[in-house]
Amino acid sequence: MSILHNLQHIRLQILQAEERYQRPTGSVELLAVSKGKNAEAIIQAVQSGQHHFGENYVQEALEKIDHLKKLPLVWHFIGHIQHNKCKSIAQHFSWVHSVCRADVAQKLHESRPDSMPPLNICIQVNLADETSKSGLSVENLPGLIETISKLPKLKLRGLMLIPPPCTDPVKQYETFSALRECKEKIPLDLDTLSMGMSGDFIQAIRAGSTIVRIGQAIFGPRG
Ligand SMILES: *Cc1c(COP(=O)(O)O)cnc(C)c1O
Repeated sequence: MSILHNLQHIRLQILQAEERYQRPTGSVELLAVSKGKNAEAIIQAVQSGQHHFGENYVQEALEKIDHLKKLPLVWHFIGHIQHNKCKSIAQHFSWVHSVCRADVAQKLHESRPDSMPPLNICIQVNLADETSKSGLSVENLPGLIETISKLPKLKLRGLMLIPPPCTDPVKQYETFSALRECKEKIPLDLDTLSMGMSGDFIQAIRAGSTIVRIGQAIFGPRG
């Protein structure tokens, strides 16, 4: 299967899910997760009309970003954030989906060049039923939201979720709905729910996702 074919198939599935679940057409952004894939694979995706790319590892990402700097791409950082990598992230990405600590938010703010627009931020949430160690608990959300709201070089866009692997669509939908409800309780105008990966993005769209992060279904299995 080619990257072009895979992208066309995913875009069709997104369109069909928008229609089936009464979501406005075009309300779900496709983020192509290119971790572990080389610049050539990304170029193939670009030639198929893809412009938003997600990366997890700073060093790996910086090489690709530099190599592809002539292309009009939007880079999203979606991986675990190490404190000493905040500066590189703030200088080279447009979005960060995985913020879950105030000191990281502060560092991203300080490192964001004045010449660049505010860095778009999602807070990664850890719903109580998760086994995952990353993400902020729901009870600690208000504090981090307040911190980020005071940092003018960051723009809080919404929430992000990495649920535990699950193949049951009913369970997937319940989990994603819990994140949507979490966002609805926040008294701010947030426009982003970053949720849904290759194995569960249909139910994420049903539950209100605005960005699906898809890797393997576009680029094939990771080695
Ligand atoms: C790898 C990754 C994805 C993509 O997962 P696939 O199963 O390849 O679609 C999405 N989000 C995050 C945070 C990831 O690390």
